[in-house]
Amino acid sequence: MGTIGPWWQSARAPWRGGGLALPSRCAICQAWPAQPVCDACVARFAPPVPRCTRCALPVPAGVACCGACVREPPVLAQCIAAVAYTWPWRGLLARFKFQAQPGWDRPLALLLRSSSGAEDLLHEADAVLPMPLSRERLAERGYNPSWQLARLLAPQRADTGLLLRIRHSAPQSTLPRSERLRNLQGAFALEPLRAAQVRGRHLLLVDDVMTSGATLHSAAQALRQAGAARVSALVFARTEAHMDDAVHAHEADAP
Ligand SMILES: [Zn+2]
Ligand SMILES: [Zn+2]
Repeated sequence: MGTIGPWWQSARAPWRGGGLALPSRCAICQAWPAQPVCDACVARFAPPVPRCTRCALPVPAGVACCGACVREPPVLAQCIAAVAYTWPWRGLLARFKFQAQPGWDRPLALLLRSSSGAEDLLHEADAVLPMPLSRERLAERGYNPSWQLARLLAPQRADTGLLLRIRHSAPQSTLPRSERLRNLQGAFALEPLRAAQVRGRHLLLVDDVMTSGATLHSAAQALRQAGAARVSALVFARTEAHMDDAVHAHEADAP
């Protein structure tokens, strides 16, 4: 990369495609040779978008916080998303999550890290916590995509043993909205021997997909109740539909 990069690099920190030898074609446009996603597709499909600092939904340029978050501030002090959860990212994430292609973790982590404000948040946080999966879900998938991202984003401070998913809740997408928040109550807890470690600290949650934020908010609440001074989140992809009610209606889980 030269000193003068593509236009989007002025707003998005340098993206170096993951530095991987494989695959050799861009997964989006099939350009060859390319890193997992080529520079042109990052510029086209992951442009820097002004987002609400609390819920990561798009806002007009110059606006820090959306109306919903002003009216009812969410438990997350800050939330940063890299891309919209739409084509082509939705399909790429599905490959990352469900088709045993964990090699995608590095390019996705780099893209997330290059999002505006992400580097600062990673620097400020005392610990970086991947959103835990229940034992059943982990057994089903074989690995936790959030952990793959967290350990690349913060190798020294990623901590998988502090926040626990203690209950295997029904997939959020199968439930009516009114039952979704209840479905998550008591879903998260802190490792009892380490609960005192969150007191007064800034904890950063990492997840691959955020839809309404109900799952993230439930985890953040457990941390705040245990005395965390501040809980923030970094998510790779953010659902942008239902913008008016998404965060506050506590809607769906990641699929
Ligand atoms: Zn491409
Ligand atoms: Zn907001």
